Amino acid sequence: MSKVFSRLTIKCPKCGSLTNYDTSNKSRPFCSERCKNNDIVAWAEESYGIPGPSVEDNLNSPRWAEDLLDDEI
Ligand SMILES: [Zn+2]
Repeated sequence: MSKVFSRLTIKCPKCGSLTNYDTSNKSRPFCSERCKNNDIVAWAEESYGIPGPSVEDNLNSPRWAEDLLDDEI
């Protein structure tokens, strides 16, 4: 067993900098509270962004166009 692995070091998922993965790091697996908060904000913005494009897809779908044609005929 190598002593190199006795102290676990990971890469911050947000900025990629090396950070200690132990109880002294309250923001783990992130390197800092700032990276932790930024990641949560980015995740929330992505989640809210999903309904927009999917509605657009429905409007452009062939099935939607066929329904409109059926009404006019
Ligand atoms: Zn970071």
